[in-house]
Amino acid sequence: MIDLIRKLFTDNSLSHEELVHLIDNRSEESAKLLFRYADEARRTYYGNSVFIRGLIEFTNYCKNDCYYCGIRRSNRNICRYRLTKEDILNCCKEGYDLGYRTFVLQGGEDPHYSASFISDIVYSIKSEHPDCAVTLSFGEHGHDVYLEWFKAGADRYLLRHETADKTHYSLLHPDKMTFDNRMRCLHSLKEIGYQTGCGFMVGSPFQTTQHIVKDLLFIKDFKPEMVGIGPFIPQKDTPFGNRTAGTAELTVYLIAIIRLLLPTALIPSTTALGSVQKNGRELGILAGANVCMPNLSPSHVRADYAIYDNKLSVGGESAQNLKALSEQMKNIGFETVIDRGDHIERK
Ligand code: SAH
Repeated sequence: MIDLIRKLFTDNSLSHEELVHLIDNRSEESAKLLFRYADEARRTYYGNSVFIRGLIEFTNYCKNDCYYCGIRRSNRNICRYRLTKEDILNCCKEGYDLGYRTFVLQGGEDPHYSASFISDIVYSIKSEHPDCAVTLSFGEHGHDVYLEWFKAGADRYLLRHETADKTHYSLLHPDKMTFDNRMRCLHSLKEIGYQTGCGFMVGSPFQTTQHIVKDLLFIKDFKPEMVGIGPFIPQKDTPFGNRTAGTAELTVYLIAIIRLLLPTALIPSTTALGSVQKNGRELGILAGANVCMPNLSPSHVRADYAIYDNKLSVGGESAQNLKALSEQMKNIGFETVIDRGDHIERK
């Protein structure tokens, strides 16, 4: 085990079989060693900086029906909302004054927002805050639409691949959504020039170690600038409402492996991780993550972006509470910085 972890640290890669072994035979000891190396790798490129992003969840309408997601179309139990352009610009203004230099616009796939409307919003944010980065996380679209948004000024795009196994993908999504289209989207984004993020849920229904290793090898091969992973958490009004949640323990172990596979990646310590375990966010950072994305949505809609149950949006998860987050990070030896926080090869 020790040799395997050392090999991962020096080569930044392992075979399928080695990764299976590393995951299935993990222990507190192997985790400790892995975290130490992951920390060293992260420090080589990013020091002890934790980059912060203001997350604006601008719509919880969605035309898709992903079996795991609380804002899926078939869920009649949630209160739907949409933010206007003015709402979004106000969030950015408030975020800017707080010290955020990246705004992440995330939403369900809501056809109410036309491609040109999104372009206009991106263009306006970039005009008002030329020193800021805009990240979109708005699902699957055609190459031309992604290109239009990039030209309007969007810098980055987050689109989790969800699972790198086609059969597993079809167990998490209705037939209308395909693995091939997800991959097509990711390749378009990268080709256009976005700093691109992929990722998956840890402990999603039907997931095996084999699937996870496929995810890791896909990530290694695709070389995204950002990788977001978090535990799957059931949402009671979805088909997976009775499933068990993924664990923080496996999530942080995988964060450390991803850090060593792609040492320069930007890796968030996600809200889902903070929601399944107290101090989850700190544990993620200690395992090699270097990004936090506190919620910058207007407070009256925060509870309605309920992709899973008991989602945190208070304390260090609230963008307004940057002081609390900075304090949490300081306590574990890290520093939140006022910076766009670009990928080191994309500055
Ligand atoms: N429509 C956008 C944003 C989706 S929400 C898109 O398709 O990219 C962002 C991420 O939340 C998803 O990619 C998914 O991985 C995660 N997510 C959704 N439901 C979840 C759940 N029940 N538990 C944990 N993570 C979930």
